[in-house]
Amino acid sequence: MSGKVTKVSGPLVVANGLADANVSDVVRVGEQKLIGEILNMTGDAASIQVYEETSGLGPGAVVETTGFPLSVELGPGLLEGIYDGIQRPLTVIREMTGPTIARGITVPALDREKAWDFQPTAKVGDNVVPGDIIGTVQETSAILHKIMVPMGVSGQIVAIQAGQYTVEDTVCLVKGDDGKDHQLTMMQKWPVRVNRPYTRKQVPLRPLCSGQRVIDTMFPLAKGGTAAVPGPFGSGKTVVQHQLAKWSDVDVVVYIGCGERGNEMTDVLMEFPELKDPRTGEPLMKRTVLIANTSDMPVAAREASIYTGITIAEYFRDMGYDVAVIADSTSRWAEALREMSGRLEEMPGEEGYPAYLASRLAQFYERAGVVECLGSDQRVGSLTAIGAVSPPGGDTSEPVSQATMRIVKVFWGLDSSLAYARHFPAINWLTSYSLYLDSLKPWFDENFGVEFMAHRDKAMSILQEEAELQEIVRLVGQDSLSPNDRLTLETAKMIREDFLQQNAFVDIDSYSDYRRQALLLGLILDYDKLCRAALTSGADLNRMFVIPARERIGRAKSVEADKYESAYAEIAAEMKAEIEEIAAGGEEL
Ligand code: ADP
Repeated sequence: MSGKVTKVSGPLVVANGLADANVSDVVRVGEQKLIGEILNMTGDAASIQVYEETSGLGPGAVVETTGFPLSVELGPGLLEGIYDGIQRPLTVIREMTGPTIARGITVPALDREKAWDFQPTAKVGDNVVPGDIIGTVQETSAILHKIMVPMGVSGQIVAIQAGQYTVEDTVCLVKGDDGKDHQLTMMQKWPVRVNRPYTRKQVPLRPLCSGQRVIDTMFPLAKGGTAAVPGPFGSGKTVVQHQLAKWSDVDVVVYIGCGERGNEMTDVLMEFPELKDPRTGEPLMKRTVLIANTSDMPVAAREASIYTGITIAEYFRDMGYDVAVIADSTSRWAEALREMSGRLEEMPGEEGYPAYLASRLAQFYERAGVVECLGSDQRVGSLTAIGAVSPPGGDTSEPVSQATMRIVKVFWGLDSSLAYARHFPAINWLTSYSLYLDSLKPWFDENFGVEFMAHRDKAMSILQEEAELQEIVRLVGQDSLSPNDRLTLETAKMIREDFLQQNAFVDIDSYSDYRRQALLLGLILDYDKLCRAALTSGADLNRMFVIPARERIGRAKSVEADKYESAYAEIAAEMKAEIEEIAAGGEEL
């Protein structure tokens, strides 16, 4: 089936003579066989989004449909991969054609030559349904790849054998209930715009531990949840995302870089493969798939990259893993959507974005969740979606930020004034929120006692009180405050400086486990409590501000990970003694 180009407008090509084609079909355009996808059809005319540079293309060029929707290849070899938005392996292409991708190039996403060591976990005679695991491949040192029965195949295994196979070799033969023989390989294909199926969704009840205190204690994210990190340039978005990729207690991370400024994406490409998994010392790439769009790639490829990334993530989720998708940034993705919409001459919505912006964003975040996977073993996997938003000028009243805020359940608002004051991570505690506090409370109660959440709430209320008091101080000055209010300001300062601030580049401070977070915040709140009690007996507040234990709390972040329990207990005892002494002395004076 082929048609002829009638119009070319940047990445948009219109062709007629394609009556039999379907929306979402992949097409090859012109002599160079550029890859494109049909966005919509009117009669026999198709509007096609082309994923490659269209210069030189003109009316009359031939368009061929492939009859298939835009799909990704799923199987061993995905991990450690660096792909573009339509899953072309960038490292392989670079070896073939140099730094810029030659047009029309087709390279399979998964290596066809490489042999993998397949170990069956099912045996001849077993009855299988879609999603059942029939065997495993140790894909990297970090991840055991589970080979699953693809959709549409159920029946009895008649042959299965361990051995070295490529992704195209048959590893298992199934006599189908439909009477057909199915030869199963280790590779599946899946259309990127279709959600991968699961048995049922569950409520996210476990937190994703990131080791970042402001995230884990103040605004926790659930495994299977959704979060957005909006922030202006330089506010620390990249560092937050790297920290999440590095420290999150998930099995697999899919990092989608959809067209940040060109050099930034190269940063990611250069930096990411260098990062080490801090827990194992192995390269982080062993559990990572990178989707990269540099800014010299056409906008359309950016649009696709989000779907490519989340489909790969769903595939690992289906194996029963905890997966995180980090998309940087959804603003660039939305701009690609806007550009295509403009060229399609659709009715523009707010700020030129198409009216379907919000629903497209929702479709992306909707693919997150904790699910009971297909297959008879009832395994559970989770997919957590984290999107960075880069609003122009840091103004979150623009459409992408607004639409995102209506969908996601966690919002870590980065603030340029905090970044300017070198308060990192610059997550503003007054504008950020997490809607998982209630559903995660039972988990925290069970694992770290009811104090964990109680302390969190207490710290938040002190920080909010601080904001109100600062308003008063601005109007009438510090002297008008009561000793209790002055203590509140002091405690808030400690929460900010000694707890919330966390330096990503200092090894000891880069990661805090939950217990350490709980003890550290506990120390600060204890200080507040002891001082407040001492105030009632007339103790001198200024003397309590300068006790040695306070200084030790300030340095508590840099205590070695294996020594903090005893060190914090020591500080607590010292603090109590010092404050009680002042309280006793206070009465004498
Ligand atoms: P963005 O991606 O928003 O433009 P970056 O993530 O590149 O911003 O952060 C800018 C700078 O802020 C970093 O180079 C670093 O110096 C500092 N920074 C950000 N977060 C932290 C952190 N958690 N700890 C220490 N420094 C940080």
